[in-house]
Amino acid sequence: MIFRSPLPPVPIPDRTLTEHVLAGAAARADRPAVVDGLTGDLITYGELARRVELAAAGLVRLGVRSGDVVALVSHNQPLFAVALHAITAAGATVALVNPALTPAEIGHLLTISRATVAICSRQSAGAVRATGFPVLPLEDLPDGRAPLPRRDPATTAAAILFSSGTTGVTKAVRHTHRGLVANLEQTRAGWRLTEHDVLAAVLPFFHVFGFSIVLNSGLLAGATVVAMPRFDATGYLGLLRRHGVTRAYLVPPMVAALASSGETPDLPALRYAVCGAAPLDDEQRARAELVLGCPIRQGYGLTEAGGTHQTFDDDFAAGDARAVGTLSPGTEARLVEPGTRIDVAPGRPGELLIRGPQVMAGYVGEDEATAAALGDGWLSTGDLMSVDEAGRFHVLDRIKEMIKYKGYQVAPAELEALLRTHELVADAAVVGVPDAVAGEVPKAFVVLSGPLDADELISWVAARIAPYKKVRAVEFVTHVPRSVSGKILRRLLSGESACAAGPS
Ligand code: AMP
Repeated sequence: MIFRSPLPPVPIPDRTLTEHVLAGAAARADRPAVVDGLTGDLITYGELARRVELAAAGLVRLGVRSGDVVALVSHNQPLFAVALHAITAAGATVALVNPALTPAEIGHLLTISRATVAICSRQSAGAVRATGFPVLPLEDLPDGRAPLPRRDPATTAAAILFSSGTTGVTKAVRHTHRGLVANLEQTRAGWRLTEHDVLAAVLPFFHVFGFSIVLNSGLLAGATVVAMPRFDATGYLGLLRRHGVTRAYLVPPMVAALASSGETPDLPALRYAVCGAAPLDDEQRARAELVLGCPIRQGYGLTEAGGTHQTFDDDFAAGDARAVGTLSPGTEARLVEPGTRIDVAPGRPGELLIRGPQVMAGYVGEDEATAAALGDGWLSTGDLMSVDEAGRFHVLDRIKEMIKYKGYQVAPAELEALLRTHELVADAAVVGVPDAVAGEVPKAFVVLSGPLDADELISWVAARIAPYKKVRAVEFVTHVPRSVSGKILRRLLSGESACAAGPS
């Protein structure tokens, strides 16, 4: 059975991402586009459009060519929007890289995305330079005048984001201009942003949620996007109040922090708070609503498809807070038995498959992984869901390998590969275990070939990866349970005891 959105499909304009997002910029030239929530520095729509054009031409004069991949490594700030659109306007593809990564991790993402140069903020310049890739400072983008290339929105890649998908290590997810433009139009049909909206943008712009749903959706609507580089509950509530934020975008750890903040700010402008990226605790949701003074409702999406489910504005107050929303316009879904991809009986839960114009073009250089993810045209999400009579979807379980630490993806396969390079580790398996603050944390089940302390191993891993990927618990076991084909049987590894669950 194919599930469809209650809203009709939306037309997809034949424009590049930048043409589309900045189409209305001239008409609102004096309005603030992106504000630095900490310093108050801002860029207006007029300035944004002008600087994008100059910097795009500057990049072309520096030798950036159509089809090149340019990485952008920065925390949320107004210049992010300039660089992002300058890169795509120059005909290149922007690869969005988390600035908190180590030099080795950044170098790896630049390599798999085939980036030739990285534009990076002052704070991340050291780490990016250490990769050996050429670097351009974000604060000092080149200026120029040059004709800009016209690219075909349907076939040209606009952005590359990173995800491990349902299995394995991190891959470079390729989105066309058309796919991203489609997702902006789909989202806009359900959430009617206007130029009077003020959006709180603490979710990182390098993640699909911050990139499409917050930054580019906000710019398309002519709204003001207030960028905040790091979240803390008190600072965030102050920002909502000072800037008269109308829409907040949250992830569950933010909801938890707001719920326990003990604050009761007066936020009369705030009308909608949208939460996504990981399972939301309903009790924390209810307490955070009292702090914010507005309903918190969910959306759902993934790096490979952007936003696919929304709680529409019209449904917001009455909507079911436990649901992740209804399908966005033009998005189709099926629920299938994991593995066989046979549709489940009506009313039964199954793995969510997605089809729609916003689904990725594929993983860069990974034909096999691309075919496995969407070979038959339906994208596997690795999420177990059910759907109710009202067409609202509920996430029941994550059945893919991915761990979500505070909404950030951690790929077990990456940590396992790292652990196995330790001279005293014979084998290792990593799973996510529940955590009150982070949602989940990585726990390693390790087979040793010599004496080693758990704390020593935890520190050894921590020294080699970004802080959010840290292994937070280690259990030593005699073997890692595997299938006949050698695949780790992660489901047999619980937070309590691996040995008890392992095959004898
Ligand atoms: P990412 O690619 O980092 O956006 O991660 C996508 C994954 O986050 C999904 O496949 C889900 O497992 C999870 N996710 C996203 N939104 C929600 C939500 N509202 N509730 C539960 N899990 C979610």
